[in-house]
Amino acid sequence: MIGLVATLALPAGAKPAPKAHPAKAHAAKAHVTKAKAGAAHVSKAHAKGPPVKAHVSKVAVAKALPPRLAPAAASAYAPPEHHANYASCGDAPEPFQKAAVENAKSIDTLDWKPFGLPEKGWAIYEILVAQEIGTHCGAGTPGFAKALGSFQARYSLPADGVFALPTFETLKGVWQERRPFVMMRVQKLCPDAPAEPMLIGIPREQETFARPDRSLRLDALLAYEQMVAAARNESSALRADPKALSIFSGYRSPESDKIRCDTEHNCDGARRAACSAHRTGTAVDLDVGWAQGVTADTTTTENRMMQTRTAAYKWMVKNASRFGFVNYPFEPWHWEYVGPLTALGQVPAALPSSGTAAAAVQAGAVQQPQPAQAGTTGP
Ligand SMILES: [Zn+2]
Repeated sequence: MIGLVATLALPAGAKPAPKAHPAKAHAAKAHVTKAKAGAAHVSKAHAKGPPVKAHVSKVAVAKALPPRLAPAAASAYAPPEHHANYASCGDAPEPFQKAAVENAKSIDTLDWKPFGLPEKGWAIYEILVAQEIGTHCGAGTPGFAKALGSFQARYSLPADGVFALPTFETLKGVWQERRPFVMMRVQKLCPDAPAEPMLIGIPREQETFARPDRSLRLDALLAYEQMVAAARNESSALRADPKALSIFSGYRSPESDKIRCDTEHNCDGARRAACSAHRTGTAVDLDVGWAQGVTADTTTTENRMMQTRTAAYKWMVKNASRFGFVNYPFEPWHWEYVGPLTALGQVPAALPSSGTAAAAVQAGAVQQPQPAQAGTTGP
């Protein structure tokens, strides 16, 4: 199945909208939902219900605001802060010393199409790969190559420690298999949108840009709140940045996506209208910073590279699984709630499909998720 999943270049459905413009009918409906759900919800912020907010184009706001961080310098490979060349990272047998030299080169020069579009180098994925293979060493070190070799051996690949497409395809398969949405798409299925009582408005203080109709599935929002509280508790950089990890997209109804596609031709290559992960109410686009002159969900290499070096992204890669969130690797901002995980690699429960949404509410969607203990997430 990994091979099959790895061949998918499923985007999460996030593309900057030239004119963010939700259908009025949907906005009105979402307000009703919020009021209803707010009554039952634990958070005071939710119970109050969000104030009516004037609609402002996300892109217009993004352009008016200063960049979240300075653009990343397009320079030669330098190990990122948390994946540096510690003394222990040089300690590996000879074949991995050679592999390290190759990896240090390819991280800036590899020509490939990991998600269907041409990319140069693989530094964007370095932190995600390091987390998966269980090393704190930078990509150009023998320690990284040794850890990659162990991963390759586990998946019956040549265990040479050299980063190349077959190894990445396997990694990608592992990551994609953690997303129930992707597993349904592999079977040519599209998950239903959640039943209305399962959706709840996102409190304004948790949004990157104020919008009146942004909501999430209740269990996803509860898990998100726990995760962000932990992030602020554990990271002084995130504590000092109130916008870090705020939400700029959540639930998007199939109807509103279709309207945007039909009327604005904003179809995201027809995928948005066809079946977006955001229809599940479990997908969130989070502020992990963005480069100057672009929006938070711009897919240029420069923007994504910069985003993967922020404290917010690094914290998420290390910790999000404790709260049941996994990343779509092509989009550093896109995370999906797949349920509490005690260890990465567990296959999450399926998303509700026709006829089961109400049962899902009763079965667990309104339960407080219990995040796994820190340190149990595995490599
Ligand atoms: Zn998204």
